[in-house]
Amino acid sequence: MSAQIIDGKMVAERTRNQIREDVDSWVEEGNRRPFLQVIQVGTDPASSTYIGAKTRACNDVGIETGTAHLPDTISAKELKKQIRKFNEDDNVDGILVQLPLPNHLSSHDVIESIDHRKDVDGFHPMNVGRLAVDQPTFRSCTPAGILELFKHYSIPTKSQHAVVVGASNIVGSPMAITLSRENSTGKATTTICHKYTKDITRHTIDADIIIVAAGQPGLIKAEMVKEGVVVIDVGINRVADETSKKGYKLVGDCDFEALKKKASWITPVPGGVGPMTVAMLMKNTLLAAKKSIYPED
Ligand code: NAD
Repeated sequence: MSAQIIDGKMVAERTRNQIREDVDSWVEEGNRRPFLQVIQVGTDPASSTYIGAKTRACNDVGIETGTAHLPDTISAKELKKQIRKFNEDDNVDGILVQLPLPNHLSSHDVIESIDHRKDVDGFHPMNVGRLAVDQPTFRSCTPAGILELFKHYSIPTKSQHAVVVGASNIVGSPMAITLSRENSTGKATTTICHKYTKDITRHTIDADIIIVAAGQPGLIKAEMVKEGVVVIDVGINRVADETSKKGYKLVGDCDFEALKKKASWITPVPGGVGPMTVAMLMKNTLLAAKKSIYPED
C-alpha cells in the first residue's frame, strides 16, 4: 500500500481564501478590519520564525496585526499589565502570547490573564473547559486544523480508534478531547499516550488513526502501526542536514518513508499540519472580531 498524502498546504490555502472573502465581506458591511495582537517575550529565533509566518498569513487574508516585543527579563506583573492593556483595547480582537516563555514566567498564569474572549489560540482554561463540554469556543488551532483536514479528505473519525501520542495542553490534550466528544466533533474511541505510557506500541498497533505530537523525531516506526492507518504527524523537529544550506532540515515524529508504505493517509512534515495551524488562527481572529463565540450582551 502507498499512502495518499494529506496536503495541508493546499487545504490551508483554500481555507485562507475563504477567510479572506469573509474578512472582505465583514469590512464591506462597515466594520473595521480584525486586529491580532501578538506578544513576543525575548528573541528566541524559532518564535520569531513562527510569528513571521503568522504575520504573513494575517497580511494575506486582510487581518491587521502588530507584535509587541518585550524583553526576556520582563516580570510577570509587567507582562500581565501589558496584556491587560490589550484586553481593554476595543481595537484589539485577538491576543496571542508566543510560547515558550522564559523560565521565570508561568505560561498558565500568563495565558489566564488574557481575556478569554480574545484568546484566539484557544489555550485559556475557559476555552479548553468549553471544548470539553461541547460549548462554542475558540478551539486550539492545531487540533482544529487537523479536524479540517479530516473533513476535507472525508476521513471518518466516528467509531474509529484514535490514538494521540503526546498530551500537552496545546496539542495532544485538546486533540484528544476533540476526538473523543460523542455528541459533537470526533465521536472516536480515544487513547492518549505520553512519556509515562509503558508500551506505546500496544496502543499504536491498534490505532485506526494515530496523531503524534511528541517532539521526538523517529518516534513512530512502521512496525508500531497496522496496515491502512491514518497518520497525522504534528511534530516539527530540526535535525542536522549537511546537504541543506541551513545545516538542518525539518522532520516530524514519524518515520515518514516507512509509514508511507503502510498507511492509507499520511501528513508530510513540512506541509502537513503546520499550515493548517496558522489558517485556524486566522479563522479564530475573525470569529473574535465578529464576537461569534462570545456575543456581546
Ligand atoms: P510538549 O513538549 O509540550 O509535549 C510533548 C508531549 O509528548 C508530552 O505529553 C510528552 O509526555 C509526550 N512525549 C514525549 N516523549 C514521548 C515518548 N517517547 N513517547 C510518548 N510520548 C512522549 O510538546 P508540544 O508543544 O505538544 O509539541 C509537540 C511537537 O509538535 C513539537 O515537535 C512541536 O514543535 C510540534 N508542534 C507543531 C505544531 C504544528 O502546527 N505543526 C504546533 C504545535 C507544536
